[in-house]
Amino acid sequence: MTDNCIFCKIIAGDIPSQTVYQDELITAFRDISPVAPTHLLIIPNQHIASLAQMGEEHAAILGRAVKVANDLAVSEGMAESGYRFITNVGPDAGQAVFHVHFHLVGGRPLGGMVRRVE
Ligand code: 5GP
Ligand code: ZN
Repeated sequence: MTDNCIFCKIIAGDIPSQTVYQDELITAFRDISPVAPTHLLIIPNQHIASLAQMGEEHAAILGRAVKVANDLAVSEGMAESGYRFITNVGPDAGQAVFHVHFHLVGGRPLGGMVRRVE
């Protein structure tokens, strides 16, 4: 838990969220401002600022995040129609929360460019 990190507070239950999955490594919850019918955030329970701070030592977290994303795509009914799994790193990508998070977005056609999810 890192002070003043909104996502650490969500993991701790100090800020309410619509959590859809949690295990010892990963928490997933609905984005407060969804851009598509399904918009989930998949985050490590460990505070890591962004993907730029991750490497081979985080293989278990990254592998679990992918597994959870694919399982949630099934439970959200978008495994066949398709979905997007993205993370923003730094200013040009528009990263707003500096606790690494993967957006799982789907439930409508998302267009050909990553920016069109916005
Ligand atoms: P970023 O731009 O950093 O990739 O994405 C941050 C995301 O966090 C945004 O999509 C924003 O809507 C979401 N978000 C910010 N604050 C909260 C919050 O308090 N609760 C939830 N559920 N999502 C949040
Ligand atoms: Zn955090």
